[in-house]
Order: sequence, then structure tokens, then C-alpha cells
Amino acid sequence: MYESTRGNLSGQSASQAITLGMVPSGGLFVPSTFPALNWQDLQGLTYRDVAQHVMSPYLPEFSQDVLSDIVNVYADGTFDGLNPAPLISVGNFGVLELWHGPTAAFKDMALQVLPELLKVSLDCLALDTDVLILVATSGDTGKAALEGFKNREGTHIVVFYPEGGVSAVQERQMTTTEGMNTHIIAVKGNFDQCQAAVKRIFAMDTLKAQLQEKHLIFSSANSINLGRLIPQIVYYYWAYLQAVEQGKVSPGSNMNVAVPTGNFGNLLAAYYAKRMGLPIDQIICASNKNNVLADFFATGVYQSRRAFFKTSSPSMDILVSSNFERFLYEMSERDVQKIRTWYDSSNQGTFTVDPVTLKLCQETVFAGWANEEETQETISRSYKAYQYVFDPHTAVAMTVYENYLAATNDQTFTVIASTASPFKFSSDVLKALEGEEQASLRDEWVALEDLSKLTGWKIPLGLQGLDEKPAKTVEVCVPEGITGVLQRMFT
Ligand SMILES: *Cc1c(COP(=O)(O)O)cnc(C)c1O
Repeated sequence: MYESTRGNLSGQSASQAITLGMVPSGGLFVPSTFPALNWQDLQGLTYRDVAQHVMSPYLPEFSQDVLSDIVNVYADGTFDGLNPAPLISVGNFGVLELWHGPTAAFKDMALQVLPELLKVSLDCLALDTDVLILVATSGDTGKAALEGFKNREGTHIVVFYPEGGVSAVQERQMTTTEGMNTHIIAVKGNFDQCQAAVKRIFAMDTLKAQLQEKHLIFSSANSINLGRLIPQIVYYYWAYLQAVEQGKVSPGSNMNVAVPTGNFGNLLAAYYAKRMGLPIDQIICASNKNNVLADFFATGVYQSRRAFFKTSSPSMDILVSSNFERFLYEMSERDVQKIRTWYDSSNQGTFTVDPVTLKLCQETVFAGWANEEETQETISRSYKAYQYVFDPHTAVAMTVYENYLAATNDQTFTVIASTASPFKFSSDVLKALEGEEQASLRDEWVALEDLSKLTGWKIPLGLQGLDEKPAKTVEVCVPEGITGVLQRMFT
């Protein structure tokens, strides 16, 4: 069963939680208990089968046959190679490559299964309605959601991204999506403003009623949806199984994980895996220059009203980290009264937690951040040392991991969650590898080819020929205009 972090809804089934996306009156769905799962019981299984074992206890009303079909996406060639999430040995740590799906970022790991989870959820609830998926994206979720939902019967998807706030490749990936049911809108504002506008729409009763007349209900493909979170737990089990198999971790010993963090979904999945019994010791939370989380872990003050920076890791340019509410729910020992106080709208995203909660947060997570120079430096240094190419997001995690190592000398085997292919951010990666001047001379599409030539790495299939594909024209609107756009399109 699922309940709200704010105590305003409980006893919801997985289908209800997935269909609703978020608690309509505010709050996020969380599992009432964490199922226990022994990693030993998964030894020797394929990714697909591990996924079935990890996800099944969270989806009790899904039959094993149905679930087996859903997770087949990890074995049917949608992800390149035989292993959808290989653990690569780099130096004496591991890099968990989560970007072998169709859009070359880790969002595919969950968004390739979310549409089916949603469809089955609607069936379970016997809801005969179409679904309007609203997505706010800082760059990668948008394309991964469009790919997952395009041409799916009974669904429309609208993606909102910050105008000028995503990379050229990310934007082009979105605008070249095919499908009659896909819509893309550029919002004049940053990601936080997109996300806030979308969250407001979920609470608009008049718009909901107008859509209901057209047999449409809202749902969300953002990581506030449990259907995103549950599939992400899988790859932490998979990382551990590979680490044991490769002899990096002795069976039963702990591993650490380092996660480049924005909306805190990826990191939360690692924490959920730990609660299920996976031997994870330290969880390292890495932020870019938008270091609201690093400050929180140092001080107990969440201060989202601050300068917003555009960085070379745009998918982490987030100040209002949605899934953090789920984390605080656990760290406060599920004190819904505290969560309500902290997330009261009158605080406008700024609050201070009590010392007991803060202490538990600090014991559970090591947090740090990397600025732009450090990130570039890490890309360049890691390439020289290991011939391994980090994308800027993963390089942020690598930098914070190195700082953690320097601070603690903890020799526990550490897995860096690698969230994007370096080719998604070719210009910035090239800038790091060969210096500012040369890199600024070419456009993004030439940069892709040049990065491939320089490193010998292959350009992911989904990024090839993007510049030649026909692109949709994008509608531009202000955050307050989003409601009007939706009314015009769908009512
Ligand atoms: C979305 C994203 C992140 C941040 O993940 P969260 O789950 O939002 O914390 C990091 N890196 C890349 C490449 C992403 O696309």
C-alpha cells in the first residue's frame, strides 16, 4: 500500500498511485513498508529477471505474467548490448553505465517501462479513459518520456522545457520525436518554474473537470511518479550483483554509490534499495553549482530561494528537488506533521529541519558539490588517467567522490552512477579534453563526430543524424500561459 508524505491520503494501491502521479492535494506517494529482498536470491539472473523480482513486491496487483511482459523491454533490443546497465571497471572504482537506452540518458531505465505500468494500472482500476501526461524536463526526461509514450494508444504527452535551458542535442532530440500524440512547449523560465507550473496544474479542479468531459485524466512522467522510482531500484541490485561477480566486492560486504543529483529520484532509489536489504554503506550525493542539497546537508536549512545557475550539467540545474520530500519523510521517522510544516507553501521552498532529522540525514548521505572548473578538470584528468570519458553530470559525481575519498580515505568499493553518454554534451566534453579555444570553433553536430574521432567511442544510435531529421516547431509560452495552452489543445 502507498500513503502520502503529508498524511493526507493513505491505503492507495500501486495502480492508484501510478495513475495519479502525485497526491492531488499535495504530497508524494511513498510505500508504507519496504519489502525485503536478498541479493543472493538474484545471483545468476538476467537484468530482466532481476527487474521482475525487485519490482514485483511493489506492484502486488500486477500478475507475474503481466510484469514479465513489461520488463521484457530490458531484453528485447531496446537497450543496446546484452546488458542494459554494465558496471565498467575504471581505476579501482566502478562506473554503472545507465545510458544504453534509446535516448542515451539514464531516464530510459524507467521511462521505457512507465507507459506499460500506467496502462496496466488503468486496466486494474477499470478506468476507461485516455491519459494526458504532463512532463517538466530539465533536458533528459522530456525525450525519454516522448520516446516511451509516442504513438501509444490512449495517451497524449506534453513536455515543457526551459527555453534556452537545455543543450542543443537535448532540444533537437525532443523536437525530432515522431508521433501524433507528442507535444513540446518551451517555457520562458527555468526548470523549477516549469516544474512548479506543472504541479499547479495537477491541483486545478476546473481544468480537470473540463478534461474529464473529453475522457482525459492527468498523469505525470516525472520522477514524482512511483512508476519512475520503482524501476530505478533495480539497477542498484544489478550493480551489486556485477560487483560481486567481478570480484570487486566480497559477497555480503558493502558497496558505496555516488549519484549525480537533481530531483533526487536516482539517489532515492539507491536509498530504497538499501532499505530493502542491499549492502550499501555510503550514499554520496553530488550536486553541481546549484548546490542547494550540499548546503542542506551541511546546515539543515533547505534554501531554494537563491541564484539559479545554468551549468554544463543542465539536467541537474534544479533548486526544488522534488523527491527530497520522500527522503525527509523517512529521515523524520515518517513524521507527516513535520513534512507538512516544512513544505507549507507559505515557506516558499525554504525551511529548517530539526537537529535529530539532520543528524540522520548526515549519517545516511555524504553530500558535496562541484563547480564548473572542477567538473571540466575531472573530465580531462579521468580521460588521461583511465581513457574513460565522463559526461559532465557523471563528472560532477566523480569529483564529489574524489573529495569524499580525500576526506575519509574510505576504501569501500564505490559505484558511480553514470547518467548520460558523453555524446549528449559533446561540446563541453571536447572543451575539457582539448581546451576552450578549439572546441568553441565548431557546432554541436561536428562536435559529436570529433568527440568520436578523438576517443574512438561510438556515437549512440539515438544521437546519429539528429541534425538532418525534420524538427517540429516549438510553441513558446510563459509559465502562467501553460493552462491556456492545454485548454486550447485538449478542451
Ligand atoms: C535527470 C538527470 C540527473 C538527475 O537525476 P535525478 O533523479 O533528477 O536526481 C542527472 N544526470 C542526468 C544526465 C540526468 O538526465
